[in-house]
Amino acid sequence: MAAGAPPVFSALVVGAGVGGLTAALALAQAGLSVTVVEQAKTLGEVGAGVQVSPNATRVLFHLGLEAGLSALAFRPEAVEARDWQRGQEISRVPLGEAARERYGSPYFHIHRADLVSVLGQACRAEPRITLRLGETVAACPGDGTPSLVLASGERLEADVMVGADGLRSLVREALFGPATPRFTGNVAWRGLIPAERLEGADIRPVAALWMGPGAHFVHYYVRGGTLVNFVGVVEREDWREESWSSRGEAADLRRDFAGWHPTVQRIVEAAPEDACFRWALFDRDPLQRWSRGAVTLLGDACHPTLPFMAQGACMAIEDAAVLAACLSGCSRNDIPAALSRYEDLRRRRTAGIQAGSRRNASIYHLRPPFSWARNQVMKAGLGMGAAMDGLYRYDALSAADTG
Ligand SMILES: Cc1cc2nc3c(=O)[nH]c(=O)nc-3n(C[C@H](O)[C@H](O)[C@H](O)COP(=O)(O)OP(=O)(O)OC[C@H]3O[C@@H](n4cnc5c(N)ncnc54)[C@H](O)[C@@H]3O)c2cc1C
Repeated sequence: MAAGAPPVFSALVVGAGVGGLTAALALAQAGLSVTVVEQAKTLGEVGAGVQVSPNATRVLFHLGLEAGLSALAFRPEAVEARDWQRGQEISRVPLGEAARERYGSPYFHIHRADLVSVLGQACRAEPRITLRLGETVAACPGDGTPSLVLASGERLEADVMVGADGLRSLVREALFGPATPRFTGNVAWRGLIPAERLEGADIRPVAALWMGPGAHFVHYYVRGGTLVNFVGVVEREDWREESWSSRGEAADLRRDFAGWHPTVQRIVEAAPEDACFRWALFDRDPLQRWSRGAVTLLGDACHPTLPFMAQGACMAIEDAAVLAACLSGCSRNDIPAALSRYEDLRRRRTAGIQAGSRRNASIYHLRPPFSWARNQVMKAGLGMGAAMDGLYRYDALSAADTG
């Protein structure tokens, strides 16, 4: 090492979802050498659409992904909330150029597989990153030592370790003990439909939210406008499977949204018979601590977030930027302090978004007369716009300097 050059640390990242891959890139760009361990054999096979708001595109662009993402994303003109049956507009918040001007970064709708594949390509092109796909982490110590054991029996060690292994994180369980996630009583239907199958259905170029009693329905374009992504959330107790690839019966989907506005009906009718997926929605209360010793958590592993603010992946992306900034330039002995600083900077914001997302489920699903009151509040411009503004202005790239 040249005199005066910062020390090169090694990092282990468990999980190559949106959070793990973004963390790997951010850490590598901060000078660490990173090994990512992911149980899936390939990256980005599954999933549907994901909304990536300016607070997250800002980070992704900083990591050099603007061209790759812009080529695959769709830029919505606005978020529009409507009544489930009559379709009248309840609230409209402009996005598109307005978002870019206001926040300095755009709002994207993107296929999750496209996002993961752009992140994966960038990781492969980064010489400091080693991707180990098809390897399951079987165990790691709970005392904050940055090491793990793979299912093959191989042991890996590093200077710092990040558990980005999702809602059922093994790293979190090792650090803080077992805790069963809570079923929220909501099940999400999701699917993708070629846009040409919806010609004449008046699918607006927006993030469309339809709010009904006990359910809501969201749709938007992805893959440059060639596919329409939908997510339909219904209150149900009889389905508890949580997987991007659990199929449901298209007939059940149609039954769940029978009587809704014709646009929603057109979408559920066009949903492919063999590719309607159901995802039971679980969450957890915020953790008091995310780190122990030289091991920390990131993304859904520490703050699983319901999709009702479209922020779970965005929070994981923000985490990655703040973590890298905290570790950048610190000495090996300072790693535990840097991780404490990272979680101190992030816990309040992510807990607020977890709570806000949970709250939105009940707000979206209100029944009359409460839904009438909600609509009046939203029509008066209160609620959605102001909440989004605070959310999107957050700059994860400077949070470690200013926090
Ligand atoms: C229906 C739905 C819609 C959503 N829409 C949005 C949206 O529009 N915008 C948004 O920002 N968020 C959205 N979210 C939330 C978002 O999907 C999650 O918050 C985000 O994917 C979390 O990313 P992560 O990297 O933390 O975890 P994950 O994506 O869960 O990744 C964890 C990774 O770790 C791997 N792994 C786990 N255990 C091991 C192990 N032992 N060994 C090796 N690898 C392991 C897994 O295979 C996986 O690849 C939505 C969620 C749902 C369910």
